[in-house]
Amino acid sequence: MNTLFLDFNEDNIRIAGDLIASGQLVAFPTETVYGLGADARNAQAVHSVFDAKGRPADNPLIVHIAASAQIYEIASRVPEIALRLAGAFWPGPLTMVLPKQDSIPMVTSGGLDTVGIRMPSHPVAKALIESSGCPIAAPSANRSGRPSPTTAEHVMEDMDGRIAAVLDGGLCEGGVESTVICFDDAETIHILRPGLISAEDLAPYCKRVYVDPAVYSQIAPDARVASPGMKYKHYAPKAKILPVDAPDFESFVSYVQSHQQENTWCLLYDSDPEIPGIPCMRYGDTGREQAHYLFLRFRQLDEAGAAVVYVRMPRQSGADLSVYNRLMRAAGFEVITV
Ligand code: AMP
Ligand code: MG
Repeated sequence: MNTLFLDFNEDNIRIAGDLIASGQLVAFPTETVYGLGADARNAQAVHSVFDAKGRPADNPLIVHIAASAQIYEIASRVPEIALRLAGAFWPGPLTMVLPKQDSIPMVTSGGLDTVGIRMPSHPVAKALIESSGCPIAAPSANRSGRPSPTTAEHVMEDMDGRIAAVLDGGLCEGGVESTVICFDDAETIHILRPGLISAEDLAPYCKRVYVDPAVYSQIAPDARVASPGMKYKHYAPKAKILPVDAPDFESFVSYVQSHQQENTWCLLYDSDPEIPGIPCMRYGDTGREQAHYLFLRFRQLDEAGAAVVYVRMPRQSGADLSVYNRLMRAAGFEVITV
């Protein structure tokens, strides 16, 4: 299959929308990362998303809509708290898990009777959903297990020849995937996957925010999890990622210098000094910067031939928790404590 590489213009949105409507796969930019889209109601099209990614069949896809009212076409029941959150955070990087309508086939929801729904704010995503006339099921547009793509070129690295088209929207602003939540009761938000919309951002809209323990630590492979995606190793570059929890930069440096191997790199904060003799990349100082750069740096570290990457630990508060979670999962939750 020859994968079309499409710039964002009216003609190409029509072409891409027609492809989705006819059961083909199109990758597109969102404000988080690039998604790999198919008509969420078309079981065969959704099957080919799992094939193209090599994604386990029990890992559900998120359904993307272009207007809040479309939520009623996807969810069979919409509690008041979900409407409140949609009013506050849509369009934006918040996915809500709700009971699904029969129009959404089981393949889309990974065999569950619930479905994740979100309304993206990116103009290309919105235009594509509108042009296709379909709710679009879209996981991140990487091969399963690889870092999520934040540029159209990264999508091509993983998907060239496997999908009909990629819409190019440049570098994604957010850089990590959406916050995924479900509701334990009418006033409790349960965070299944942290994103740039943080527990602190959600707190004013409910009585309680509960962060799933799988966000912080490894889940046993046979454990029942609230969100199937949490049990898979994820987001990893080819290089071995080693987060180093050190009390200060000096102790980080002395650990790294005494454990240097061939092709050792460091991933540092922007404000950290150079480390003599060890090549470094940087991923920002704030959580938002680190989210924006993390997956991009993973792919660049692979291009640079890194074998081992020592990473300065991100923080765990606010939106920074999304970066911490992705880094931990790339590292298989192994941390070096100095
Ligand atoms: P991705 O498409 O790669 O961004 O992954 C989407 C993630 O959202 C999945 O791995 C799940 O963890 C989560 N998710 C989607 N739908 C559901 C659902 N119905 N129930 C629980 N988690 C979900
Ligand atoms: Mg993904």
